Amino acid sequence: MAGDGKIYVPYMVSSAFGVKDFTSIQEAVNEFTGKTCVRFIPRTDEKDFINIQALGESWSFMGRRGGAQCLSLSEPGAVQKGTVLHEFMHVLGFHHEHCRPDRDQHIQVLQNNIQEGERRRGVWL
Ligand SMILES: [Zn+2]
Repeated sequence: MAGDGKIYVPYMVSSAFGVKDFTSIQEAVNEFTGKTCVRFIPRTDEKDFINIQALGESWSFMGRRGGAQCLSLSEPGAVQKGTVLHEFMHVLGFHHEHCRPDRDQHIQVLQNNIQEGERRRGVWL
């Protein structure tokens, strides 16, 4: 595998998820395989891997942290392919577009239009 130009990201999925969720995750994996050099592969014995869990909200750390790296996908039974793609992008180190350092050269953020409680996340600032 090493040296073949591909980026391999081992992952495992919590058994809390159901068949539909596994299907959504597999569809996301297939989309990466079809359109990129990234290969999300089922973990065997790799030390560093993505541990996909259902912790109530969908979120991921940015980039590789090492060890069993948690990635949460909403609730069992409600996992959407688009959400998996989104969180996988974060795993690969991609931030939201509105976090770009050159954002303010292209748009003006109207702070008063941000819902109370959302400003604290900092991603809008
Ligand atoms: Zn995100």
